[in-house]
Amino acid sequence: MFEPSDEAPEPTAPRPRGRIPEPGDEPTLTAEEDAEVEHAVEQLLEEVSGPETQTERLLQAHELRGRCAIITGASRGIGRAVALDLAEVGVDIAFNFLDEGGSSRVEAQQLARELRQLEVQVFCQACDVRNSGDVNHFVADAVEALGAVHILVNNAGIGADRALWHMTDLEWEAVLRTNLDGAFHFLRAVAPHLRAQEYGKVVNIASVHGVRSEFGLSNYAASKAGLLGLTRSAAVELGPMNINVNAVAPGYIRTTRLTDRVPAEILDRAREQSVLGRLGDPQDVAAVVLFLCSEAARHITGAVIPVDGGYLL
Ligand code: NDP
Repeated sequence: MFEPSDEAPEPTAPRPRGRIPEPGDEPTLTAEEDAEVEHAVEQLLEEVSGPETQTERLLQAHELRGRCAIITGASRGIGRAVALDLAEVGVDIAFNFLDEGGSSRVEAQQLARELRQLEVQVFCQACDVRNSGDVNHFVADAVEALGAVHILVNNAGIGADRALWHMTDLEWEAVLRTNLDGAFHFLRAVAPHLRAQEYGKVVNIASVHGVRSEFGLSNYAASKAGLLGLTRSAAVELGPMNINVNAVAPGYIRTTRLTDRVPAEILDRAREQSVLGRLGDPQDVAAVVLFLCSEAARHITGAVIPVDGGYLL
């Protein structure tokens, strides 16, 4: 067995990593080797770094002041909350609604008044997202009214739930054309503006049901899964022009659409399935949309962010 003898020379204590050498330290590299290492490191840095961009002042949502956003289907529910949150930080707002009777025109006018009180410009018009010609006109008019478009939130959406063996063509088409075609129509119309200015934020309001379905949602789940595919494709195509495209996937959110149409037992089950034990509110979704539109999220694109209290876990 080897044992160090008394005569063995005292081992020199290794220099702790990262310690600045002091006079009297054993030199570890010759001056020539030092210069070589320095040169190699410089070369490596040049290869990997490219021009460095600044990340200062992240999550300054008020930096959005003066930007212009189009939000589809904002007369009520989640779209309305998104419009109010963006206007709070000084974003000018264009929004549409469907106006198929009922109270939506009155609700839209009420929202427009509330937005103007926040001292932003507002453009509000009925426009059916299913009709690509109407969408093109809406976008052109909105850009003329606000002066630009920097943000698009594809929010307009409907459901028409039924077991798939009873689902009519009309129910299938209405949901696909609103939730998926509508988002495509707006994205296509807005993309040239975003590309020309090499800046843009697109947020698609998808759903947890684009990821995991439940009974009776074949049309809705297909439309939202399609929207997630569209999100990823658009992120790939628009990313090189400094345009971020993301989706949020809300779980059950307390809007009138939900509370009026969905049976109480389904809402109770949804509450149980959410690990946080509650349903969400429109503001929960709006807060994430605001984040995705801010520079704090500048390195996020093609992502799907659940806002579901843990429903998908
Ligand atoms: P609401 O029913 O409260 O509001 C829907 C909005 O979309 C309204 O402004 C409506 O206009 C508009 N709209 C519907 N169809 C069209 C159309 N063809 N053209 C133009 N506008 C249209 O919905 P929510 O706020 O509950 O939902 C908003 C989005 O969030 C939808 O995409 C939905 O799928 C998604 N979502 C909602 C969840 C929830 O639990 N609430 C959960 C997950 C996702 P009008 O008032 O004129 O009818």
